[in-house]
Parts: sequence; C-alpha cells; structure tokens
Amino acid sequence: MFFLRQVLLCLMVVALLTGCSSIGSIGKFSTVVVDAGHGGIDRGARAYDGSYEKNYTLDVTKRLEKKLKARGYHVIMTRKGDYFVPLADRAATSNKQWGAIFVSIHFNDTRRRAAQGVETYYYASRSYPLAARIQQEIARYSTNRGVKRARFHVLRNNTKPAALVELGFLSNPQELRRIKSAGYRDKLAEAVARGISRSAR
Ligand SMILES: [Zn+2]
Repeated sequence: MFFLRQVLLCLMVVALLTGCSSIGSIGKFSTVVVDAGHGGIDRGARAYDGSYEKNYTLDVTKRLEKKLKARGYHVIMTRKGDYFVPLADRAATSNKQWGAIFVSIHFNDTRRRAAQGVETYYYASRSYPLAARIQQEIARYSTNRGVKRARFHVLRNNTKPAALVELGFLSNPQELRRIKSAGYRDKLAEAVARGISRSAR
C-alpha cells in the first residue's frame, strides 16, 4: 500500500512537471512594451452601456505599468493618454528595443450578448509561452476562451515575443459590470503582470 502511494505520488509529480514545462519559456527580457488598444478617434468596441474600449484599455495598461515596474521591469507605453497611435508605430516601438517583449491590452465585443470570457492571441511560435502564461493567469477571473493564433497587425509585424490579450466582453452586461469596477480591472492587470513574469521561466 505504501509503495502504491509512492508510485502514485511520483506519477503526480511527473504530470505536474511535464504540465508546467509544456508551455515553455520566452527566455529573459528586461523591457515590456505595454500597448493600450485603440485611442483618440479610434474608440474601439462600444460597450453595452455606451462606454468605449479605448478608456478601459488605457486604465488597465496604467495599472499594468505600475505592477511591472514593481517587479523590476523597464516599461514603455505605446500611449499614455487618449490619442491615436497608428498600428505600425506600436509594433515599431518594441522592434527597436533590445531585450523587449510586447503586450497589447484589449476588450472584446460581439453581437451575441451571451458571449463572455478572456482569450489571448499570439502569431509567431516564439510568442506562444507568453500568451499561454498570461491566459493561464487571467482565466482565473473569467471564462477561459483559450490561447489563439491570429494575424493581427501588432503581432504579425513584431520581431519580439508579442501577445494580444482580450480581457472580457463589453457586449456582455454581466461581464461589463465587472469590468467597470476598478478593483476587478486591477485584478486583471495583476494577472497579466503575473503571466508576463512567469513566461520568462
Ligand atoms: Zn480592441
């Protein structure tokens, strides 16, 4: 019986270890380019109550900036206020930084009001561990829609590990109610920060 228990314990440890290592790592980095989706005339998604995605993304990136700095990272923001930044400029910001990664923050919307949850996108395979670690952390707070591959401009034109995070549906009344709470947005920012730092190991 004792032996059997030991064998089971060993199997569990092996499963745990392989589960952890299957995501992989993006390696060491010192700079995080934080990209608040949309801005200025580009308002992004229109929420169920008429508010705009561009304001939620800016709020989360400002929180994320603080949390990453507290973890010792150098942070570059692609925008710090409500103004328009072309997509090409966003990707270029991380492309010219040595030892940088790129994380873009967005919120989702769809005509199907019931749709809810969080998802993270990547394009190049080197970016997968970054996307997977972030998704792992943010999925603690909402429905896990998984890690997906997409040819979004800021991902496709990035030469650095890059991920685009969709932190919930503004078109879903229940999810919007949570997103409108500063405490919830802070939790999301903390989860993204955790995912970013975990992707390096
Ligand atoms: Zn967006």
